[in-house]
Amino acid sequence: MLQEQALLLGVELVILDEAGSPAKQINQNDKHVAGSFKDADKIRELARRCDVLTVEIEHVDTQVLEEIATKGVEVDGKMKKVPVHPSWDTIRLIQDKYLQKEHFSKAGLPVAPQMALETHDVSTLDKVAEAYGFPFMLKARKGSYDGRGNFKVNGTEDYAEAVKFMEGLSIYAEKFLPFQKELAVMVVRTEDDEGNLKDVYPYPAVETLHVDSICTQVVYPPAVPDETYQKARSLASKVIQTLKGRGVYAVEMFLLQDGELVINEVAPRPHNSGHYTMEALPAMSQFRAQLCAILDIFPAATKLQPRVSGAVMLNILGGANPDSHDKLVNMTHQDHDDGVDVFLHLYGKASKPSRKIGHITLTSYSPATDLMAAVQPFADEVSNLRQ
Ligand code: ATP
Ligand code: MG
Ligand code: MG
Repeated sequence: MLQEQALLLGVELVILDEAGSPAKQINQNDKHVAGSFKDADKIRELARRCDVLTVEIEHVDTQVLEEIATKGVEVDGKMKKVPVHPSWDTIRLIQDKYLQKEHFSKAGLPVAPQMALETHDVSTLDKVAEAYGFPFMLKARKGSYDGRGNFKVNGTEDYAEAVKFMEGLSIYAEKFLPFQKELAVMVVRTEDDEGNLKDVYPYPAVETLHVDSICTQVVYPPAVPDETYQKARSLASKVIQTLKGRGVYAVEMFLLQDGELVINEVAPRPHNSGHYTMEALPAMSQFRAQLCAILDIFPAATKLQPRVSGAVMLNILGGANPDSHDKLVNMTHQDHDDGVDVFLHLYGKASKPSRKIGHITLTSYSPATDLMAAVQPFADEVSNLRQ
């Protein structure tokens, strides 16, 4: 999706990933590096071939990114420094969800109460229960996605399993927040060459819906009062002002019963909650914004105003069989109600159960259109795939 925008901007992308990976499938280029994005030597090789480095996943080696940005990489006996956006130290901070939220908390921004856990036994769990009550969350500090590093402790009956879950992991505990809704806001951050903040630009706020901790739906506009909508965008902007580096960032938030907003976590990259921008803000999707920001060509007057009245994104998760999602794909090819457009995106990934292999966005141009009615059959089929 970044590559599609790179073509429109006349920007050449060089990819480090395994041969035949999705980004390489639509970008034939003899400069690509084949290998793992966890391999430091491969990252150095990529840096030799680029003017600026960015990431599409935060679970990367930030030591080597720091080295490339500050000392440089050797090219023809000389050291070449390559800027890294977002900054390697932002990526390092975000990698550790506990430290990430300590950082926001120190900046005076609202996060759930949390505590780092040094020991992983029943008495430790008792201490957490005493402080936060049941249920509470245990979370892996690093490497988590789609809720895979999370464990909800409902009561002492879960202790044995919780102790097993924590084994060998660096863990923190978090108060469980019985939220009304989850909201997310993508934010573009621009900087000058010295790393001084130029500006931040929040996209619209959206509601994100999760099933088993995996995002299944993203809805614009979210059904919240305008005051909450604006508060979410302004909180997200404040969050991103505390970080370093150009680019787009996702800010995930909980909307509590009393209307307060609490930051869940930040992703330093284009994000699932921003996929709807491809159709809702076609002149400046999150992918175009990522390239414009890191190349410092983001138009300063950009307003990030949606061009549709509504947009709903549904993730396509792999089903039991490699072709389980065929029916869903075929549904996107059928005739739809007037006023509703349906956009299919498949990523060229092998299908595996629960793996995000694509998404569908439905948009409407008039608030009078019942977008949710058009979404329903697709949402039903998405949930069929899960069974
Ligand atoms: P991602 O794929 O977004 O990176 P992750 O593995 O980092 O996910 P989290 O964002 O920490 O996981 O949590 C996943 C989901 O679990 C949240 O979106 C929310 O629905 C639920 N959740 C997480 N923490 C809490 C909490 N403290 N209280 C209530 N629900 C929570
Ligand atoms: Mg996460
Ligand atoms: Mg999350």
